[in-house]
Amino acid sequence: MSSKWNVLQYYIQYKNRKFKSIEQIKRYQEKKLKKHLQFVTANAEYYTEYQDKDLEEFPIINKKIMMDHFNQMNTVGIDKEEALEFAIGSERTREFSEKLHNITVGLSSGTSDSRGVFLVSNAEKDQWAGYILTKVLTRGILAKYKIAFFMRANSNLYEAIGSKNIQFEFFDIYADLDENIQKLEAFQADIIVAQPSMLLKLADAMKQGVLHAKPERVISIAEVLEKEDEEYLKKAFAVDVIHQVYQCTEGCLATTCQYGTIHLNEDVVHIEKEYLDERRFVPIITDLERTSQPIIRYRLNDVLVEKKELCPCGCLFTALEKIEGREDDVFQFLSQDGKMVSVFPDFIRRCILFAGNVTNYRVLQKQDNSITVYADIDESLKERVIEEFQKLAEDKQCITPRIEFEAYSYDSSRKLKRVERCGK
Ligand SMILES: [Zn+2]
Repeated sequence: MSSKWNVLQYYIQYKNRKFKSIEQIKRYQEKKLKKHLQFVTANAEYYTEYQDKDLEEFPIINKKIMMDHFNQMNTVGIDKEEALEFAIGSERTREFSEKLHNITVGLSSGTSDSRGVFLVSNAEKDQWAGYILTKVLTRGILAKYKIAFFMRANSNLYEAIGSKNIQFEFFDIYADLDENIQKLEAFQADIIVAQPSMLLKLADAMKQGVLHAKPERVISIAEVLEKEDEEYLKKAFAVDVIHQVYQCTEGCLATTCQYGTIHLNEDVVHIEKEYLDERRFVPIITDLERTSQPIIRYRLNDVLVEKKELCPCGCLFTALEKIEGREDDVFQFLSQDGKMVSVFPDFIRRCILFAGNVTNYRVLQKQDNSITVYADIDESLKERVIEEFQKLAEDKQCITPRIEFEAYSYDSSRKLKRVERCGK
């Protein structure tokens, strides 16, 4: 069977899968999980000792553990060094069409130092494409689309999305911005997929009149989409919702519904929630379908905020208020009795936004816990920012950290993070 036919089959299968109750979702997941764990324990050396055990007994892993045991965890006999060399070679030459032993290999775009490699078989590629298309397409799979996809690296993973009627165009985010804008102007995309920092640049180009895009859908990926950026993008692109695809190498975790709510994709991933407070949690994910490189109880470094109210779209998958950011980016304040207190990125954001009209900013907490605010703002606004931080510290019964100001700057070769804690 051809790959395109497979993608279509998967698309139809996923599109028609409806869940009527939370119990039904649970039952579905349990059934899938049982079968999947049987496969994994029989085929991945790392997991053989967990045969017939429940998921809760499997070890919780992270990127480092996964990379350290890469050879024992993958079921397609690919060696880590070989895979790394191959993936780095593809990025260096910007040539992404090759495969290693018929497996797509890519580097994960983490900001952390441990480099990750992911493996995707041809069947998984088609399955993933079928799934993602149910989430991305606006008018069914047989309509015509032009999809502009801004990404750090292309991959033959994405080729599976293209077809006779779906024209898929890769935009290299490292290419010259003006060239990308010209290319996008000529392409006239129906769907634009890019990280928020790139979407903001495109929105600016729209404002300046050098770009005239009329996308039906705008999809944000790879970086945290801040509320105020989202509002700006909605206006600039004249769309009601900025969609988000929360996709990492570990799986397609969440997507936005037509009401603008982000839902976890609980039909393809099982998610355990490690709660940080009543609504914030760190997800521990188990991909229910990936077999070449199984993802079992992988603890992501992200903080997600649960939405308690039901979404009017009727989808029963867990709804998210937002994807708040990396767990590493949670700030630390010193309490009056000498303990460190976690302050979530959202509180830091509010200090800036409550202070006044600040469009571009970054807030960085250094190792010594001092805070640097990067923003082009005048003295009175700086004072108000300090006041907001003082109020926040008071609320948390903490000492206000030292605050410094610098002109706004950001290294566009890195992911844009408005709120960041310096790891080293
Ligand atoms: Zn919804």
